Amino acid sequence: MTTDELLRFDREHIWHPYTSATEPLPCYAVERADGAKLFLKDGRALVDGMSSWWCAVHGYNHPVLNAAVQEQLGKMAHVMFGGLTHEPAVELAQKLVEITPEGLEQVFFCDSGSVAVEVALKMALQYWQSAGKPSKSAFATIKGGYHGDTWHAMSVCDPVNGMHHIFNGKLGIQYFVEKPSSVFGKEFDENDLSELRQLLEEKHEEIAALILEPIVQGAGGMRFYHPEFLKGAKQLCEEFDILLIADEIATGFGRSGKLFACEHANISPDIMCLGKAITGGYMSFAATLCSKKVATTISNGNPGVFMHGPTFMGNPLACAVANASIGLLLESDWQASVSRIEKHLKTNLSELQNLDSVADVRVLGAIGVVEMKEPVQMAEIQAAFVENGVWIRPFGKLIYTMPPFMIPDKDLQKLTDGMSEVVRVASCGLT
Ligand code: PMP
Repeated sequence: MTTDELLRFDREHIWHPYTSATEPLPCYAVERADGAKLFLKDGRALVDGMSSWWCAVHGYNHPVLNAAVQEQLGKMAHVMFGGLTHEPAVELAQKLVEITPEGLEQVFFCDSGSVAVEVALKMALQYWQSAGKPSKSAFATIKGGYHGDTWHAMSVCDPVNGMHHIFNGKLGIQYFVEKPSSVFGKEFDENDLSELRQLLEEKHEEIAALILEPIVQGAGGMRFYHPEFLKGAKQLCEEFDILLIADEIATGFGRSGKLFACEHANISPDIMCLGKAITGGYMSFAATLCSKKVATTISNGNPGVFMHGPTFMGNPLACAVANASIGLLLESDWQASVSRIEKHLKTNLSELQNLDSVADVRVLGAIGVVEMKEPVQMAEIQAAFVENGVWIRPFGKLIYTMPPFMIPDKDLQKLTDGMSEVVRVASCGLT
């Protein structure tokens, strides 16, 4: 198939994320990917600034991850998880229990981040039903969040930027409080917790759980908030008997500089969602962990089982590659890699702050964000990045990067040079 034929069929028949079927944004055909590079079918090589949306922390085509998939493939690609178990799943559960914050001891494997969030929300509801408090069936969250595209996950995404208005009032109505104003690394303003305290005080008989992304609000705005807010939120949940769900789907496995972002505040949630980098970006897979208290309460209630069981639960290929990916991460000096990237992003992106078109530049761990004052023109800016030899996918006003941890220094330089160049040109009228 020629590249033109491929792109034509794609344009005419295939949906892409958040894209029109009749006027789709242009797509670029990738032939292969290796290390921190994507190779387009037309011969161009791009430095990857996205880790395929937070996932590919070790880069692409990694020999250790490839070998793990191949070895598992020779044994079994998949078997149902009802009534059967296997070593890759048990090994992965052991690893997750060991490395996640204290107290998370029961593991539910599922298919994707959004499903992991659905599972977490269902766990919270079943927990309170089993605990004899069925009135606790609503969720609280902070504005500016993003938790996925499935039905109930959408209901806890930001009420304005999220999808509430699109679905005609049919999404569940949840309780939203203002997002924390105190940013990571600056002073903490105690008032940030007042609205949450007031909400939980008034509505704790109705609220099952508080769900939030710890420290890094991702697709809802790429903001980094103060760990004291998370610490305070955890205390309020304890005070008002509300479960805390930490959505670590984007932050898990080192991205923010800690293995899990909850560690910035030294807290353990009751339920935690993991996804994305869990398989090093090899396949769709996720896990929802909970405390023994949550698990046993659900199991002692009615119907006495947790009501979820996806077809591809505990998929052996995914578990095998997740084991290899977590092994690689923990054996490496990933903290040094992340702080190398953090330092580079701070040094190389900060001066963009001085441009009239730029509202803010912020960096945390291996995440760099340039927030523009106006939304960017997606097709044009995307083409400009490709021209500069880098793969960056902005959204709205946000131009951001979270490269693979192993990105070589010279590629990292190319990435930030490309970002600087495109942001500067954008300031002069591209957008
Ligand atoms: N929660 C968070 C914090 C996310 O960043 C995402 C994905 N962007 C999701 C949930 C949903 O994950 P998935 O796209 O794998 O369904």
